[in-house]
Amino acid sequence: MVELVSLTKRFGAHTVLQDINLKVYAGQKVVICGPSGSGKSTLIRCINGLDNIDSGEVIVRDARSGNRYERPSDVRKHVGMVFQSFNLFPHYTVLKNCMLAPMKVSGVDKEQAREIAMKLLNKVRVGNQAEKFPPQLSGGQQQRVAIARALCLNPTVMLFDEPTSALDPEMVKEVLETMVTLATEGMTMLCVTHEMAFARRVADRIVFVDSGKILVDATPEEFFGDAPHPRVRDFLGQVL
Ligand code: ADP
Ligand code: MG
Repeated sequence: MVELVSLTKRFGAHTVLQDINLKVYAGQKVVICGPSGSGKSTLIRCINGLDNIDSGEVIVRDARSGNRYERPSDVRKHVGMVFQSFNLFPHYTVLKNCMLAPMKVSGVDKEQAREIAMKLLNKVRVGNQAEKFPPQLSGGQQQRVAIARALCLNPTVMLFDEPTSALDPEMVKEVLETMVTLATEGMTMLCVTHEMAFARRVADRIVFVDSGKILVDATPEEFFGDAPHPRVRDFLGQVL
């Protein structure tokens, strides 16, 4: 569903991602972790075309239609993205935040957009907040709205970039539960997160990024097993 072939990304003279190769199959959940500044956000941003790449390929496939997308503008239509900082429009209601993209990108009419948005807001259990504005909601509620908003475009893949790291501890759980629900429904997911309990429970694979390279690509059993890579051991010592 997502294939990165020898992806390299530079900012000026600084090579931030080097020769990244990654394949994510339909329905797989891949957790990406690694030290701060290692290139995790850049990796996610390259997948959905928010950052352009210097060499290599980014390919996203639609498991339903079999279509293959390479142009960032096409990829973006099929990939849902959830950021650390929610990125909701504060001056639009929750409902309108969710209706905008389907109307603009997919060309669905207003009534249909409302129906889709309400269905997904209910799914993440914030349907009763639909007429409020984002700043009136808790962080956990806002992040669930952001997830609903991404789902409104019926994505084939969902990307998460540290979706719980801006949240107060008591709200982390409700967002992770929403993500677990999505995962169990078969959504293909790439999640940058340091929530290792979530990774252990949900991930098919855990990818450890260090200095712009994939150092480890392993199952949770291997990743948390007896003989971790020394860099992984250091990292786990910090986050667990
Ligand atoms: P992570 O998400 O793992 O913390 P990032 O992908 O945000 O790491 O950043 C990786 C490296 O790329 C860092 O050294 C960061 O300073 C650099 N970087 C990220 N975005 C930019 C940018 N827009 N311009 C220049 N350097 C950047
Ligand atoms: Mg980051």
